[in-house]
Amino acid sequence: MSEDKIVVIGHKNPDTDSICSAIAYAYLKNCESGLEPCEEDYKYEAYKVGTISPETIFALDYFQVGEPNNLENAKGRMVVQVDHNGYEQAVDGLQDAIVVEIVDHHKIGTTITNEPIFFLNRKVGCTATLIYEMFLEKEISIPITIAGLMCSAIISDTLLFRSPTCTDRDKIAGLNLADIAGINVDEYAMAMFRAGSDFNGKNIEEIFSTDYKTFNIGNLEYGVGQISCVDKEELETLTVKLLAYMKERIKNSGENMIFMMMTNIIDEYSDFLCIGKNAYEVSIEAFNIDEVLYDSKDRIYLKGVLSRKKQIIPQLTSVLRKRAMTL
Ligand code: MN
Ligand code: MN
Repeated sequence: MSEDKIVVIGHKNPDTDSICSAIAYAYLKNCESGLEPCEEDYKYEAYKVGTISPETIFALDYFQVGEPNNLENAKGRMVVQVDHNGYEQAVDGLQDAIVVEIVDHHKIGTTITNEPIFFLNRKVGCTATLIYEMFLEKEISIPITIAGLMCSAIISDTLLFRSPTCTDRDKIAGLNLADIAGINVDEYAMAMFRAGSDFNGKNIEEIFSTDYKTFNIGNLEYGVGQISCVDKEELETLTVKLLAYMKERIKNSGENMIFMMMTNIIDEYSDFLCIGKNAYEVSIEAFNIDEVLYDSKDRIYLKGVLSRKKQIIPQLTSVLRKRAMTL
């Protein structure tokens, strides 16, 4: 690892988009600089921050691409943020780094720069879709491996075009990339999802942390995780274990509310687990539930809900804000 290279990096607790988009964008930027990728003096280098998920490992292995190195701290480095912006989900030390570019599809956060930068943020389902479009725009040909990784990112973020965050642009990008990569997109997606929901050998804390993000509203701290599965029975088993874990966790974690989406990708629903004082009441209000499916006050059935970003966070945040004001 060399200090003079520009870091291309996704968010903490990386998902497939954060890893694959970092690799693809570093490749694109190196091509743009007129450098052969893999050359010693290439300028941009993809990094990860934290452990890579089994789903991402499946994609990297399939296309025989190595894992990016881990970046502990970005202090003093030049950084390109992909699949996130702001400091909340970012690598440590980003406040003391120089952010030179951002390519993202999330709400605008807190990144501060001293100079104008290239900041691309679009309402699409996946960062890799934007990078695919940049490859076309700049007329840079896409190698099979990079196409495969970008396609994996789109499949992952849009749950194979099923998520409400998925746009026509994501679908076009995903299908074209699948063509370039030479994969059958349905078969590949199922294999990747299966790999991603293989929790064998993981303890419950690791499973809980797979895709867990924390948020703050005033003094209120809450977190929302998501576990996606293609197997109904496995999802049920995990639900029971996770509920027990969440009830223990909240005693000491400092979080006021802990939420977990247990998402069934095939049948297109999520069971929403809610632990903490008023967490259930807040959820009932946020999602306009008038008929409950489960008796226990820690679990809500949400039909057609697959996207945390679009179908959970805005609804939850608006109720929590309102409550925070009246506290
Ligand atoms: Mn992401
Ligand atoms: Mn993404």
